[in-house]
Amino acid sequence: MIRPVDIKRVKIDDRFWSRETELVRKEVIPYQWDILNDRVPDAAPSFCMHNFKAAGNLNRKMRTLGRDYEAPKYTYRGFAVFPERREEAKDDEFYGFLFQDSDFSKWIEAVGYSLAAYPDPVLEETADKAIDIVCDAQLPNGYLDTYYIINGMDKSFSDLRDHHELYCMGHLIEGAVSYYQATGKDKLLNAARRFADYVAGIFGTEEGRINGYPGHEIAEMALFRLYEVTGEERYRNLAEYFIDQRGQEPLYFEKEHPDMKGKPDYYHQAHMPVRKQREAVGHAVRAVYLYSGMADMARITGDTELLTACEALWDSIADTKLYITGGIGGTHIGEAFSFPYDLPNDTAYSETCASIGLIFFARRMLQIKPDRKYSDIMELALYNCVLSGMALDGKSFFYVNPLEVLPEACAKDERKEHVKPVRQKWFGCACCPPNIARLLTSVGSYAYTESEDTLFTHLYMSSKITKSVSGRDVGIRVESGIPVNGEVSVFVEGAADTGFVLALRIPGWTSGKYEIKGAEGLETSVRDGYLYISGFDSDREIRLMFDISPRVVVSDPRVNEDNLRAAVMRGPFVYCAEEADNGKGLRSIRLKRPFEIRQSVTDEFGIDAVRLDISAVRVSATGGEAFASRLYKTFDRMSESETDLKLIPYFLWSNRGEGEMSVFFGY
Ligand SMILES: [Zn+2]
Repeated sequence: MIRPVDIKRVKIDDRFWSRETELVRKEVIPYQWDILNDRVPDAAPSFCMHNFKAAGNLNRKMRTLGRDYEAPKYTYRGFAVFPERREEAKDDEFYGFLFQDSDFSKWIEAVGYSLAAYPDPVLEETADKAIDIVCDAQLPNGYLDTYYIINGMDKSFSDLRDHHELYCMGHLIEGAVSYYQATGKDKLLNAARRFADYVAGIFGTEEGRINGYPGHEIAEMALFRLYEVTGEERYRNLAEYFIDQRGQEPLYFEKEHPDMKGKPDYYHQAHMPVRKQREAVGHAVRAVYLYSGMADMARITGDTELLTACEALWDSIADTKLYITGGIGGTHIGEAFSFPYDLPNDTAYSETCASIGLIFFARRMLQIKPDRKYSDIMELALYNCVLSGMALDGKSFFYVNPLEVLPEACAKDERKEHVKPVRQKWFGCACCPPNIARLLTSVGSYAYTESEDTLFTHLYMSSKITKSVSGRDVGIRVESGIPVNGEVSVFVEGAADTGFVLALRIPGWTSGKYEIKGAEGLETSVRDGYLYISGFDSDREIRLMFDISPRVVVSDPRVNEDNLRAAVMRGPFVYCAEEADNGKGLRSIRLKRPFEIRQSVTDEFGIDAVRLDISAVRVSATGGEAFASRLYKTFDRMSESETDLKLIPYFLWSNRGEGEMSVFFGY
């Protein structure tokens, strides 16, 4: 059984990664708390904690009045309700998106991971008080979603497709488990369990039960996690029910919405039973959350039919629907996957959350089978699309991560309204920033997984970890030169005669070019992109030298958008050119062959980064007289001027103001 390592046992001390996790701890978590409490004047109000307090007040009223209490009757007020002005908000009304509760859950999840790495009594006290407010809102039967508690319980679970009660439950479970694992405090965990117990009691295929499933998935993977923490079969059964019931005829969402208005079933991955699904379709975040739950189930049950579906869905994404940055979601219409090979650069959706979900899916597939095909993409998504989601100062965020930007088009072209040339402070629908926070604070559990005797290293970051093998503690210390160079040292202590196995990922970007020192006399073998080292007889330093030299990358010609264009990568980093370094008119620059790339280390972004300069030509065509229109002329000749195209890692783009950006160039 392969599992992620407990993040309390991983100490990350890495120049690159510690900066990211510190940003989350010092900037994002406190800022997010202010947002949840509507204390940031120039940001969209959240009303998240307001809603929990309002629900808590109603609860108290209910208890005091007893039978005289008249419950509110449900009336739909809209997907999101905000008062005209903050001051006009009424104390007892629900505001925000109907899934606003989940903002608290994502926050507490990140707080949990952060406390596991850095105990912080002040933050813990704030979190405990927040948990009191949240638990106060829970109904005596265990139900906990403030939208219906405040607006009328008579319609709860009546719109599984478009309302997000099960989504909120999923996030609540994730947050509660994280906080419990960090602090040992189980108040929120018990609240989440009671909500899950309530849901388990009313959902199912039996007569009289609701035989639906979540419109926005996440409850599936959350319930498996709750099952693994508590050992309670009920949660596993509920998760399995949600997965197997999805897409069964008659389609539940069509029964629920007989007018057939709204998003189609494939948008929710509910168009056919999940075991039959082979192509990743619909809303990208929902899809990868579902696939993550399916992978959990395939691992826990050993169900090969489900595993086949997971593998096919993974391949569908990896081979036909993945941006070079690890982004997914080719169209903003439905924030969704487009058809195979449709990966437009300038209208890309490539939501930060979707890449994060892809990382969840990858880690779960790695728990079933350690194979580089999963970890290569996990790394690609993390180092590019996800890191790009947050500014260097941790204060602004991208929801959408395009691969080509013309600022004027973002401002004036409605088809690109979703693309922003600069990061935003916060969003009314704030899914991405808290998702970045919960991923980065738990990055150690993606870097390493373990089985009884083996430690798998999927991502390289300077860190220390202790692993118990045959009742003895083996100490593993990694020193990683990535992202500046490809040198990695792994110090293994106390492994002699324990049967300890070290499995090191050989990244796909090395193209098999690497050297290894220090493993002399040990047993080594390479399987599915991992180097397995065993037979430790003494303490060892194993040195890996990965070829991290820059390379020019082209796409499958079926990716129409990138046909005859190329991008530059170095190690796991995708590179891009910005107007700040190259002036306007990036489209007129073409890479010169044979490719010549020079690299230089820079600290101008306040972090260690490597710039690349690639020989290029700026091309323009001149023509004769204009005819009919000034736009067009008969071709005369090409004029070309040599230039160096200056490239920076993609995740650093838009930290120097607004300007053009592009990842792909003609050659
Ligand atoms: Zn998002």
